[in-house]
Amino acid sequence: MAVVSRCSRAATAATTANATTAPTFAYLIRSLSPFSSSSSTFDPQNDLNNRNKPAVLGTLKRESKGRNVQWVFLGCPGVGKGTYASRLSNLLGVPHISTGDLVRDELASSGPLSSQLKEIVTQGKLVSDEIIIDLLSKRLEAGEAKGESGFILDGFPRTVRQAEILEGVTDIDLVINLKLREEALLAKCLGRRICSECGGNYNVACIDIKAENGRPGMYMAPLPPPPQCASKLITRPDDTEEVVKQRLRIYQAMTRPVEDFYRSRGKLLEFDLPGGIPESWPKLLCALNLEDREDKQSAAA
Ligand code: ADP
Repeated sequence: MAVVSRCSRAATAATTANATTAPTFAYLIRSLSPFSSSSSTFDPQNDLNNRNKPAVLGTLKRESKGRNVQWVFLGCPGVGKGTYASRLSNLLGVPHISTGDLVRDELASSGPLSSQLKEIVTQGKLVSDEIIIDLLSKRLEAGEAKGESGFILDGFPRTVRQAEILEGVTDIDLVINLKLREEALLAKCLGRRICSECGGNYNVACIDIKAENGRPGMYMAPLPPPPQCASKLITRPDDTEEVVKQRLRIYQAMTRPVEDFYRSRGKLLEFDLPGGIPESWPKLLCALNLEDREDKQSAAA
């Protein structure tokens, strides 16, 4: 995808893809690593500022203007974090890191954590901070070894504690809070289908909310799979009505406060999705002062 940045910090960050960024990852990984072995007593302020303070801290702070974007996507289950994070990741050339995907990969691997995770995830509960940070650290470490820089996080942080830990180890430039009318969230989760082979995300739900009592209507077309994926579709085991409702409750209790955490730091961009991808993607790009030339060309073709 071709990207043209028009202005703003988003644009500045997006156009500095070649800057030296490895220390950012090294810092995050080194700082998070002690957490995995002593999670219950880990104090981000103490541990990161004193005992484990890495020498690269100064470098990181100085380089924060000359590196790739470090963005976070927040939003309820079903809102489309994965869809938009993945599109932005392609556009900006930074990795899209979904902690939900990391958890599902771990589940599928039948490793030592697998059965424990299965129970938590299928009940719609949150995995412990210890496990999630361990998975994230390993993912960042693998990315760093491949020369990745910057990230778009999707599904992390999900608790204020996770946000504090992240803040203790690196600068987040921007947090995009995706919002969608509540009526649509459950339907979108129940309609979600995933290609078991390529991992592509599709949706069979057709959301058609009629205008009522002064509220506008909303239409979201289904997102059908391409023919090669059609026979390989699966549903996530946590996308049942009961579990989605539980995930929505947990979002309100545990993750809503994360919005305030970033709002109070002036980092939160609220974005109300006006409909499906065709309406929402150009508006999101506009809100971020970005332009997707390829998307425009294909729309014009
Ligand atoms: P959702 O569609 O609900 O946003 P995700 O795909 O992001 O779901 O995550 C799926 C599951 O993985 C969550 O319900 C939770 O059990 C676990 N999970 C993902 N990210 C985190 C996190 N940051 N902290 C704790 N648990 C997480």
